Amino acid sequence: MSAKIIDGKAVAARVRERVKAEVAEMDTKPGLATILVGDDPASHVYVRNKRSACAEVGIESIHHELDASVPESELADLINQLGQDDSVSGILLQLPVPGHIDSDAMIELIPPDKDVDGLTTMNAGRLVQGRAGLVSCTPAGVMELLDSEGVDLRGAEAVIVGRSQLVGRPLASLLLARDATVTMCHSRTKDLAEVCSRADVLIAAVGRAKLVTAEMVGDGAVVIDVGINRTDDGLVGDVDFDAVAEKAAAITPVPGGVGPMTIAMLLVNTVKASHLQQDDRGAAVG
Ligand code: NDP
Repeated sequence: MSAKIIDGKAVAARVRERVKAEVAEMDTKPGLATILVGDDPASHVYVRNKRSACAEVGIESIHHELDASVPESELADLINQLGQDDSVSGILLQLPVPGHIDSDAMIELIPPDKDVDGLTTMNAGRLVQGRAGLVSCTPAGVMELLDSEGVDLRGAEAVIVGRSQLVGRPLASLLLARDATVTMCHSRTKDLAEVCSRADVLIAAVGRAKLVTAEMVGDGAVVIDVGINRTDDGLVGDVDFDAVAEKAAAITPVPGGVGPMTIAMLLVNTVKASHLQQDDRGAAVG
């Protein structure tokens, strides 16, 4: 079998068009505030890409760049100020932040209805409880890719490798909400190959180049590769793409799979956040 390649760029482009059309209809344009602390080159690239994606769809971009040595209290003041600013629909604190800053504490300062990364305890908790909220962008993007392929998740065996707060855990909740039978694997999982081989849908979010080999994948599985690993051969995922593509029914490439979806879902979340705030204001007025 030779797998269908799931084109994340094309799916993301469709999502961005959808967002652009929605923003064009909105009386008040949504605004995304990005906060970048320090000079990590990769973070600068990510934030630049997020801001240009905002500009493309008509979302206002409000950018703050802080020195690596900024006191935590100054960052906290900025987040609080953006939290109260009506022109700011969403707040994104680019991670990682320098070691002297408690990133968890800073994220908790973001009002839940502006938490476009879905990382506050409130939004993470709502997701686990199956209640509406803002959902972390990469897991939301994975779901959009699965839906774009028409993957039937009800009763499907879904195996996730990686249990991070950012990807693995929210993804488990999203798949469970769609009636998949979810198994989560991590560094202590016994016989990872055997567990993975049972999957109808296999998602790798580990950060280890080519960890998932063809022997670990069942015939006809749908394989989603979240991993991004910089190697001498360039960017590669967590899945041994060429070998696994011989067995899988469908597979995402790296780059060009999940990556573009993450930014597209950030735009979706910013619009959603703007609606949440309009609703709140409407309720307050009404
Ligand atoms: P984390 O480092 O937070 O988590 C990695 C997870 O993988 C942990 O749960 C860890 O287990 C597990 N793990 C590590 N080694 C093994 C192993 N040998 N076998 C099984 N499980 C293992 O990573 P993130 O979730 O933040 O990111 C994962 C990958 O996804 C990275 O490559 C990252 O760059 C990429 N990424 C891509 C995004 C995109 O937009 N495409 C967005 C976000 C991340 P344990 O918990 O036991 O330590």
